[in-house]
Amino acid sequence: MPPTPCPCTSGKSYKNCCGPLLDRSTTAKTAKQLMRSRYSAYALGGHGDYLLETWHPDSSGGLTAEALSEKTLNWQGLTILNFNQKGNQATVEFEGSFVDGDGNPGLHHEVSRFRRVKAKWLYVDGKLE
Ligand SMILES: [Zn+2]
Repeated sequence: MPPTPCPCTSGKSYKNCCGPLLDRSTTAKTAKQLMRSRYSAYALGGHGDYLLETWHPDSSGGLTAEALSEKTLNWQGLTILNFNQKGNQATVEFEGSFVDGDGNPGLHHEVSRFRRVKAKWLYVDGKLE
């Protein structure tokens, strides 16, 4: 059987890309890696606990793992457009393509902010472009 391709469309197999992050056998070394794994969590659905764990507590108020586990959009692919890191802060600009519940294609363009807290990268918030 060919290996399952990673939903983050890195071209790598899931088990050599976001899989070890989502199953907690490793943690993201960079904000970009975390970004990819969070995209995969959304694409796969059912990983709300991971999304919540990697969300900065200052901005995750009101979110539940249950709600974050729901697959509302059918994610098709991820393109990282820009990546900047300064010390414990980073931004990742990306485009995610999706198909919505009615079968209409769309593009999600966001600049996400990340912060490293106790050696762990966390998602802070995102600005839609
Ligand atoms: Zn991946």
